[in-house]
Amino acid sequence: MKFYVLTLFPEIPRAFFENSIMAKAVEKGIIAYEMVNIRDFAFDKHKTCDDSPYGGGAGMLMKTEPLCKALESVKVKPKVLDAKKAKKSKTKKSKRVIYVTPSGKPLTQKLAYELSQEEELVFICGRYEGIDQRIIDSYVDDEISIGDYVLSSGEIAATVIIDSVYRLVDGVISSESLEEESFSDGLLEYPQYTRPEVFQGMKVPDVLLSGHHENIRKWRLKKRLAKTLKNRPDMISSARSSGKLTQEAEQMIEEIIKGN
Ligand code: SAM
Repeated sequence: MKFYVLTLFPEIPRAFFENSIMAKAVEKGIIAYEMVNIRDFAFDKHKTCDDSPYGGGAGMLMKTEPLCKALESVKVKPKVLDAKKAKKSKTKKSKRVIYVTPSGKPLTQKLAYELSQEEELVFICGRYEGIDQRIIDSYVDDEISIGDYVLSSGEIAATVIIDSVYRLVDGVISSESLEEESFSDGLLEYPQYTRPEVFQGMKVPDVLLSGHHENIRKWRLKKRLAKTLKNRPDMISSARSSGKLTQEAEQMIEEIIKGN
């Protein structure tokens, strides 16, 4: 899978690609990436990339031309042209383009999984007050937000999305590690413990030392349900309405509510 990141600050997302599990995935050839500095496509001698918005208002917007040229440099075409070309030559549509913005649809594990099925993703990182609507209309497939708050620019948001996506690509981490993670089946994760057995007077729960797999499974399920009920009751309602809660889970929820 290949990520293209269009940005005015390539060093911010680059650090992510050069470290830890991502660096290994790049080394193994599972993941590739390209940083595109939008400023390289500015055409005046000051390399200007911002301009004031029509209609007035506070702040500046990213200029359209450098951004458009940056998109074309990674072979992204305006949607109309691309659709016509794809129809004519029966080739598939070009790369999926994401603009990270607080006014986008929320990033979820489900969306991360869907994006992990793509071969190539192009991210546009906004700066100032954002980008011209015509760039969104012509080139952007998805507007995605990482949460209901406003960051000063899109590099961190794009990196968050890339992190949530690349770890789901086959071969990056073991599928076992992904199976019982938070959100994988509509519940949050159970509590985990490692050595030492007693830390600051607190002991690891006996059941985890028992080696009794069935009891451990039940304990973990009940802890997941208790945590989800406490921190994200909305997820329990969704899991229930989509039929993901077994009878065993419903029974445990009753016990948790009764304080058992
Ligand atoms: N004027 C914009 C608004 O009110 O929605 C906010 C612009 S923000 C200061 C600058 C850039 O940061 C945005 O264009 C976007 O790329 C990025 N950004 C900020 N918050 C974000 C979020 N919650 N999710 C995704 N991107 C975000």
